[in-house]
Amino acid sequence: MINNLRITIIADKQEQVLIANELNATLPQPQIGYYESQADFEKWVKLYNCDFLIAQETLVNRAFYTRLSPFLELTKIPLLILKDATGFQSMKNRVIKELVKDPGNEYLKQLSPFISQLIDEQLTVTGQSKILFLEDEEIDITFIKRKFIKLNPQYECDVVSSIAELRKQVGEKKYDLIVSDFNLPDGTAFDSIDIAKTADIPIVIATGQGSEKTAVELMKSGAADYLIKDKNMGEHMLILPSIVKTVLNFKKLETYNSGLLEMLQIKNQDLERFAHIIAHDLRSPIASCILLIDTLQMLGEDLPADVQETMGMLTDLSHNMTNTIEGIFQYSVLDSQADDLVMVDMGKAAEEALQNLKIKVDECGAIVKIEAMPKINASYVQMVQLFQNLMGNGIKYRGDKTPELTVRSFEQGNEQIFAVNDNGIGIAKENHKKIFEIFSRLHNSSSQYEGVGMGLTIVKRIMERHNGRIWVESDLGMGTTFFVAFKGV
Ligand code: ADP
Repeated sequence: MINNLRITIIADKQEQVLIANELNATLPQPQIGYYESQADFEKWVKLYNCDFLIAQETLVNRAFYTRLSPFLELTKIPLLILKDATGFQSMKNRVIKELVKDPGNEYLKQLSPFISQLIDEQLTVTGQSKILFLEDEEIDITFIKRKFIKLNPQYECDVVSSIAELRKQVGEKKYDLIVSDFNLPDGTAFDSIDIAKTADIPIVIATGQGSEKTAVELMKSGAADYLIKDKNMGEHMLILPSIVKTVLNFKKLETYNSGLLEMLQIKNQDLERFAHIIAHDLRSPIASCILLIDTLQMLGEDLPADVQETMGMLTDLSHNMTNTIEGIFQYSVLDSQADDLVMVDMGKAAEEALQNLKIKVDECGAIVKIEAMPKINASYVQMVQLFQNLMGNGIKYRGDKTPELTVRSFEQGNEQIFAVNDNGIGIAKENHKKIFEIFSRLHNSSSQYEGVGMGLTIVKRIMERHNGRIWVESDLGMGTTFFVAFKGV
């Protein structure tokens, strides 16, 4: 059985004592961590730091399984659920197992055999991890060969004694981890780190005592962890298994994360393709529908008023649908259509937005004042869109007044802020958050204000992409000011 197994337990106090007594008596030097609740566990535990999880079923919920399962599957850390005989069905699978408790606590006797069996099983699934030791001191080599390899059959280990040998060995065989001494006959651990980085293998460095500063430097250059050498006959090596497991699991989680990111990118591309399909394939049938309804309306001039009214409603609905589709399309292609971040003259972007709104401005005689504004690092296309959406809303939600808009900019802290102010109908305080949600509107489609509730969602997304923030100051009847803030002035 593996030494120093790191076992994490989520159980109430009474159960903790029972389990700990049993495990300490039956396993070789287990390191046991305790949590009394799922929340505590989720807050503190670092999964890559443990080998085995035990959880009392009554203390965890379904979300616990859902969140944990992929990580357990990946790291092959087994989870043992202690069930009350009456408990609900948990989620058994390859890594999650159950043990039913009994009133006489006989189940405790089954714990250690169960743990050993599960660890062995996972070992057969994962296969041996391959570790390459770079060590030139006889005493440490002896320790690695006599103790580490014997006590940790889950690792396949090789030992080399110089940087040159390391380079050669890494080229010949695939390793999961390198453990390197600091001083070597033909270089130092910084050379080992370079080799490990090139081969994309995590590396742990063994440094001399009192060299914590060097350790920090090593970590900065890319070491995954370090261990301080003990003068007493390689005893520091005793903690090596824990470090090795942590680093290996960390690497797995890292790979898993980058896999997730890749998946997310693919999903986003799918979404974009989907948006194109919507835009192209749905836009034209709806346009045809509108045309047909128009024709019907022309042909049916003599039809009863209520039928004509229904046809009018149909036209409005179809227009609305076209706008919604257009909005979804614009939102989903935001990222891919954005140009690179360059120095953007924000005054020029606002002027272009105003030009795009010319028809609307002329319709209502809006007065728009654009003050002098600085240049910032941004996407030009998106800055035009941002001003266009905000200024467009200022004109649209004008109520009975002639719209008066001011666009200005100022510095605050380390942020450059741009503000678009109008004298329109205003927004009640309780809606200040809601308006940024997708499809969220404060007016229904039959009101005087047309729209689909995408404009501010798009602006918010643009600000997220620029690492900035957006907020509104307004109240009913008081006019509205939208603020967008860009970091790093
Ligand atoms: P849309 O204008 O298509 O409804 P937006 O996302 O641009 O979508 O705006 C969401 C809601 O926020 C609008 O329906 C409106 O009620 C409110 N709103 C946005 N801008 C203003 C403004 N300048 N003045 C008053 N209300 C506004």
